[in-house]
Amino acid sequence: MQWFAVLFKKPREQRNLTETRANAALQRNLPADVIMFAMSIVRVALDVPLYRCFDYLAPGVTRAAIGCRVRVPFGRRSVIGLVVDLPEESDLPAAQLKAIEELLPAPVLPADWFRLTGFCATYYQAPLGEVMLSALPAGLKRLDPPTPRIPKVAKALPQPSPMPELTGEQTAVIDAVRAAGAGFKPFLLFGVTGSGKTEVYLRLIADALDKGGQVLLLVPEINLTPQLEARVAARFPAAGLVSLHSELTEAARLRNWLAAADGRARIVLGTRLAVFTPLPDLALIIVDEEHDASFKQQDGMRYSARDVAVFRAHDRKLPIVLGSATPSLESWANATEKEMRGRYTLLTLKERAVAQSRLPAVQRIDLRKEKAEEGLSGILLEAIEKRLVRGEQSLVFLNRRGYAPVLACTSCGWISDCRRCAANLVLHLKDRRLRCHHCGYETRIPKACPTCGNQDIHPFGRGTQRLEEFLKARFPQARILRADRDVAKSRKQWEALVERIHAGEADILVGTQMLAKGHDFPKLTLVGVIGADAALFAADCRAPERLFAQLMQVAGRAGRAELPGEVLVQTQYPDHPLYAAVVAHDYAAFAATQLAERRVAGFPPYSHQAMLRAEAPQMADAIAFLTTARAWPGCDAHPAVTLYDPVPMRMAKLANLERGQLLVESASRPALQAFLAEWRAAVDGLKLPSRLRWHLEVDPLDY
Ligand code: ADP
Ligand code: ZN
Ligand code: ZN
Repeated sequence: MQWFAVLFKKPREQRNLTETRANAALQRNLPADVIMFAMSIVRVALDVPLYRCFDYLAPGVTRAAIGCRVRVPFGRRSVIGLVVDLPEESDLPAAQLKAIEELLPAPVLPADWFRLTGFCATYYQAPLGEVMLSALPAGLKRLDPPTPRIPKVAKALPQPSPMPELTGEQTAVIDAVRAAGAGFKPFLLFGVTGSGKTEVYLRLIADALDKGGQVLLLVPEINLTPQLEARVAARFPAAGLVSLHSELTEAARLRNWLAAADGRARIVLGTRLAVFTPLPDLALIIVDEEHDASFKQQDGMRYSARDVAVFRAHDRKLPIVLGSATPSLESWANATEKEMRGRYTLLTLKERAVAQSRLPAVQRIDLRKEKAEEGLSGILLEAIEKRLVRGEQSLVFLNRRGYAPVLACTSCGWISDCRRCAANLVLHLKDRRLRCHHCGYETRIPKACPTCGNQDIHPFGRGTQRLEEFLKARFPQARILRADRDVAKSRKQWEALVERIHAGEADILVGTQMLAKGHDFPKLTLVGVIGADAALFAADCRAPERLFAQLMQVAGRAGRAELPGEVLVQTQYPDHPLYAAVVAHDYAAFAATQLAERRVAGFPPYSHQAMLRAEAPQMADAIAFLTTARAWPGCDAHPAVTLYDPVPMRMAKLANLERGQLLVESASRPALQAFLAEWRAAVDGLKLPSRLRWHLEVDPLDY
């Protein structure tokens, strides 16, 4: 029999084991399939960009191995894979199968984790092995795993922090969630900044813990939310809260992951990758700032952690709460549009939770009428001055780091552009560099124009560094602190900076969106917004949505405690409806106009999209590839799907690669999914010019 031939190729101890079992089966006259079972084949998912799994011989292995990791030979290497099945037989003749090298008995990935990763592989058209292995912490994928230590969970404190008495609105929201009971229930918690959303989360978490459940709390960027971590830990000191995000060391991530997977950690607070954490007793999922683009993974499998979380809640039949002051238009439509059949239940918090605290007064400053000095209007400068006198803090918000976005020659028109990207090199005066914010290329600042030799080269426009410099000169007595990615590169640096702001070490803050999110600075009473207009007319149809969210968020920083806040938005377009909605704190009005536009344009959420992207040294190759993909004859069988023409991407060149894209759209998600599955396989079979790479993105956010 064939499998005997296989047995002889294997190491002695394995051979003996298998032979013994097979012989035992033969001697007892057992049917052939039982004999086959005695030499078990395992199907293994590997971290390779191939749409298939791999079969190996695994003598004596039982179905209990499903969900375990195995060490297997792959090419000339040994790699860690995951047992996904014990097939009766392989597509390959047994003689061609290699044996596994080692079965790693723990941890065992549970069935719902397989459903979750399986869903992602199907939905995002990604190879199952890549999806599964990338969902595991690195420590589980190494051949030399860190020695297993007893996982540590946070020690219980003295006392849980007290709970405030809920406001009427909070009570109503919590009652609504409680009344819905168990089962899949998606809620959209729409609450202005400071309305007490987090307090609502904490109460719902308490409910879930009381019932013996685990809670998954997802946040967009953990860097920006140490306050939330502290708040949750203080409220639930005995819950063994663990966090999961990319800045943890490998060992810490593994430890936290294991604590979540075996149930010791009852609360997991994490960024998008945490959505894949096995949680045996999961009872509640919360996605804070659900609109945030950081939930979208931008490489590898391009998934939306928020959407995956909704699938997970559906699959595990759980409530899920998506919270935001400025929900994504997709979620908003799901909660408010009749045709979405009320997929989400809308819960609203209109008022700030702290009685004395009011939403800040937002005003527009018309830059067509007001003179500006280095981009700052007299009105804004006076308002800053007032805060200095009163000992309060101001924040000038400019979402552009560096000194100036470009250096230019006034005589020949040369500008500092990146040789490798369709982008400018940003001037960083502090460290005397020109730097590309896209590919990281950097170079010295030239003394003269590299083209004509003219010494009269100038920075154009302004970034946070230039603003900081000007404010220092303008208010020499003030302590000015800049907060952007250049000064706070790591989470540690960021936390130190936030500490300093809290300690009152700054009178004026100059910051990018990093500072807009999630921070409570009680002394901050003025926010000045400059340079926001650019986003009004951006080619990206989602730019207004992002700008609105950003402005509401940054405005929400002003006046959170007893001191009332003021927000001044400088603009050339004071009549723009977006600013009118910001002034009125009226997200609903803004969303209504945006959705109306999207409906006319047939854009999401009224259609579903996918994007095929290709990059190559030459644009012509990228476009030719996309054109071939578009010409796939099978397209005709999918009339409900529209394929647009291949075009260069908005940023047509990045790091020496030219990039094109092809948009695919359908009013029906199932129709799009059915098409993508076939098309992806067809595209996968195309012969590629050298150095061409492509990927398919489902539900793209950038165009
Ligand atoms: P959000 O998450 O909506 O921005 P938070 O939950 O952080 O709002 O609440 C904003 C502020 O109001 C916080 O300082 C919080 O401690 C306080 N707060 C929330 N709920 C209450 C309440 N019911 N009573 C008193 N203060 C509250
Ligand atoms: Zn020149
Ligand atoms: Zn570049």
